[in-house]
Amino acid sequence: MSEHKLLINGDLISTGEFLDVINPATGEAFIQVPLANAATLERAVAGAKAASLIWAGTSFQERRELLNKIADRISENVEQIAAQLTFEQGKPLAAAIMEVQFAEGFCRHFAGQEIHSEVLQDSDEKRIEIHRKPLGVVAAIAPWNFPFLIAVYKLAPALITGNSIVIKPAPTTPLTAIILGELIADLVPPGLVNILVDNNDLGPILSAHPDVAKVSFTGSTPTGKAIMANAAGTLKRLTLELGGNDAAIVLDDVNPAAAAPGIFGAAFINSGQVCIALKRLYVHDSIYDEMCDELAKLAKAAVVGNGMEEESEFGPVQNYAQYKKVLSYVDDAKANGTIIAGGVAIDSPGYFVPLTIVRDIEDGHRVVDEEPFGPVLPIIRYSDVDEVLSRANRSELGLGASVWSSNPERAHKVAMKMEAGTVWINQHCAFGPDIPFPPAKESGIGVEWGREGLLEFTAMQVINVNKHYAEPEH
Ligand code: NAD
Repeated sequence: MSEHKLLINGDLISTGEFLDVINPATGEAFIQVPLANAATLERAVAGAKAASLIWAGTSFQERRELLNKIADRISENVEQIAAQLTFEQGKPLAAAIMEVQFAEGFCRHFAGQEIHSEVLQDSDEKRIEIHRKPLGVVAAIAPWNFPFLIAVYKLAPALITGNSIVIKPAPTTPLTAIILGELIADLVPPGLVNILVDNNDLGPILSAHPDVAKVSFTGSTPTGKAIMANAAGTLKRLTLELGGNDAAIVLDDVNPAAAAPGIFGAAFINSGQVCIALKRLYVHDSIYDEMCDELAKLAKAAVVGNGMEEESEFGPVQNYAQYKKVLSYVDDAKANGTIIAGGVAIDSPGYFVPLTIVRDIEDGHRVVDEEPFGPVLPIIRYSDVDEVLSRANRSELGLGASVWSSNPERAHKVAMKMEAGTVWINQHCAFGPDIPFPPAKESGIGVEWGREGLLEFTAMQVINVNKHYAEPEH
C-alpha cells in the first residue's frame, strides 16, 4: 500500500502494484509508491497528447501564470520535499533544500521566457517568417542524482513552449517526482503533466511511442544510445545529456592551498554523483605534492553520514548497484595508485563510501578512464601542457572541463583547446537556467537550458509568401 498517487491524465491514481523505495543511508525500504504499467503509460501518453493540442493554443501569459503557480507550490513546500529527497536520494538535508530551491529558480526562469516569431525578409516581392511551434508530447526520462531538480528543469521549458509532458523518474528515486505531481495536480489542466513510475521497464516503450514527439533524457551514455535507437523509428526530437568524465588541468602558476577548496567542492559535490563533477585532476609536477596534500586534508576532514544528521556533509551513494560499482573503482585505485584519503569501506548497512583520493596514478586505469560517478578522485601528474591536453581530450566523453591558473590569458588559451561542451576557468560545475549546457562527443546531443535549450522544445516553421501573386485579369 502507499499513501502516494501518480498524476496520470489529470487523476491521482494508484495501480495496485507497488515499488519499494530504499533509503540509501540505511539500505532499507522506507516507503512504497505506486508502480505504473504499460496500460498506465498508454493512459498518460493519450492524456498528454490531448492536453498538448489545447495547451499549444494558449498564450505565453497563460503558460507563465501556470509555471509561476507551480514555482509557488514548490516554494511553499520546500521543507517537506527536501526531507523526502534526503530519504530517497541520500544527500544531506541542506543540499536537498538547495536542490528544491534551485528547481523553483529554474521554474521561475523559464516562466519568464517568451519566443517571438521573426521576419527574415519583407520586401515588395516576398515576406519570409520564422515561427516556433510546440512539438506535442515530451517524455522526460531522469536519473537518480538530482531527481527533483531534473524533473522540474525539464517540465518548465516544455510547458512554457506549449508542450505537455510525461515525466519518468529513475526507479530508485521516484518519490519527489510523485510529490511534485501531487502538489500541482489541482493547478495543471488534465493530461498536461503526468508522472510515470516504472521499474526500469517503461523507458523503451516511451522512447519508441508514436505519440511522443521528443525525449529529453538525462542519464548514462549507454542508455542514451538505446533511446536514440528506439526513437529512430519515429524520428523523435532528442536531447540527450549523458555521462561525463570531466578533466581539470591545474597549471604550474596555481597556489595549491588557494585552489584546493574549489577543486575539492567540484569533485565531491553530491558525493561525486554529478555528471559535471570534476573527475580527473591533472596537476603540474611542480605543485603536485602540495596539491595532493591540500586535497587529502580536506577529504579526511569531511563528514560522510546520514543526510538527516546535521553534521553530515556528504551522503551515501544513491543505490546498491552504484555503490558496488564505486567500490570497484576504489579497488582499482588501490591496485594502481597511492590512496591518500578514504579507501577503507565504512562499516554500515547504508551505501557509504568515504571521500577517496588516489595519487601516483596514470591514464589507462579504470578509475581515470571511466566515470566512477561516486566520491573517488584520481590526481594525475603532468609536466607538459600540450601533452596533458591530449590526455585530457582522449576521453570519448566531453561534458565539462576546467583550467586552473593565476594567469587568465594563459588559462583561456588552454580552455579553448579542451574538447568539452563547457570549459570553466578557476571553477568547475557552475551552471544555471540561463546558461546553455551543451555536451560534446559521446556526452550527448542537443542543449539544455539557456535560449538554445528552450528552442529545442519547439519545431521551426517557415512561412514564405509570394507578394507578386495576382488573380488573373477577367
Ligand atoms: P541510467 O541511464 O541507468 O538511467 C537513467 C534513466 O533512464 C532512468 O530513469 C532509467 O529507468 C531509464 N532507462 C534505463 N534504460 C532505459 C532504456 N533502455 N530506454 C529508456 N530509458 C531507460 O542512468 P543513471 O544510472 O540513473 O545515472 C547515472 C548516469 O547519468 C551517469 O553516467 C551520469 O554521468 C549521467 N548523468 C548525466 C547528466 C547530464 O546532464 N549529462 C546528469 C546526471 C547524470
